[in-house]
Amino acid sequence: MDLALLDTTLADLGQPKFRARQVWSWAARGAAGYDEMTDLPAALRGELAERVPFSTLTVERETRSKDGTLKVLLSTHDNRKIETVLMRYKDGRGSVCLSSQVGCALTCTFCATGRMKFARNLTAGEILDQALYFRRQTDITNVIFMGMGEPMMNLDHVLAASRLLPDLGVTHRRTAISTVGWIPGIDRLTQTDMPIRLALSLHAADEDLRSAIMPVNDRYPLADVLAACERFYSVKKRQVFVEYVMLDGINDQPHHAEELAAVLDPVIYKVNLIPYNPTDSIYDGSARDTIAAFRDVLEARGVRATIRLTRGQDIDAACGQLAVKAAAA
Ligand code: SAH
Repeated sequence: MDLALLDTTLADLGQPKFRARQVWSWAARGAAGYDEMTDLPAALRGELAERVPFSTLTVERETRSKDGTLKVLLSTHDNRKIETVLMRYKDGRGSVCLSSQVGCALTCTFCATGRMKFARNLTAGEILDQALYFRRQTDITNVIFMGMGEPMMNLDHVLAASRLLPDLGVTHRRTAISTVGWIPGIDRLTQTDMPIRLALSLHAADEDLRSAIMPVNDRYPLADVLAACERFYSVKKRQVFVEYVMLDGINDQPHHAEELAAVLDPVIYKVNLIPYNPTDSIYDGSARDTIAAFRDVLEARGVRATIRLTRGQDIDAACGQLAVKAAAA
């Protein structure tokens, strides 16, 4: 829902100030439309339905994975396509993976979104509407900005959306922003009052190798990025999650794990090793025992490491697979 449009429309209609809040809290709790807002005058519900689209996004297609992961293809008012994913876990968590941009300006060599052109930033309303789409079906407990785009390059809107997520049942502590290491964004997150978690897509501890697979490393070298993460930790006292995608023969050898352990303070960082999901890139994923051996080297050096469970791979909803084939063509 476009909350600014809601405000001006209510003002136009001469409605009292509390109405906007009333409408928003119904939407945030998963109402399907204005009709359900029974404490609003019927005439007003009708006016709103005409003047403020209930969602800024329309649904193009929903796909369900064998593991229960749901992926939805959404269309913006200017006909841009974005994808959003819901992962449900046995312990009751419902985690939504949100997109922050249409396409991505960065060119990480292994990522499907990185091969799409950047089109534009999403608004705060468009970001919230992705989460609301799933909120209307189920309880959601966690949000991760790990969908399409680089959230730190659209941080105003990402933070504005995050500020309202508690109304949907997602606390700031259960909200995480993942970045390639966009230092100005990390520094801003350090300064916000919200206890949002930081995740860093690291992928190679060696500067040259990292630059080769993630060109953004030339602009913000890893050493400087880690210094920014350490400032974040010292202010926020929250561990930083390191994402490390395992590329066969590229960054997955024991010496790469040694190099990684050497740059990570185990008090500050926890590593999540990500099995590579096939996209049409030049890379293959590492073998399972290569990933396990890598984890063992990290653990032996005192760095906590887990291997990410891959979800939604059969529907191209897994990490790095979010590129809209229809729209890209
Ligand atoms: N731009 C941000 C947010 C996107 S998060 C960031 O890079 O952190 C998407 C995560 O999935 C990143 O950690 C990215 O490196 C990882 N990823 C990208 N392509 C992947 C692939 N094909 N398989 C597994 N993980 C991938």
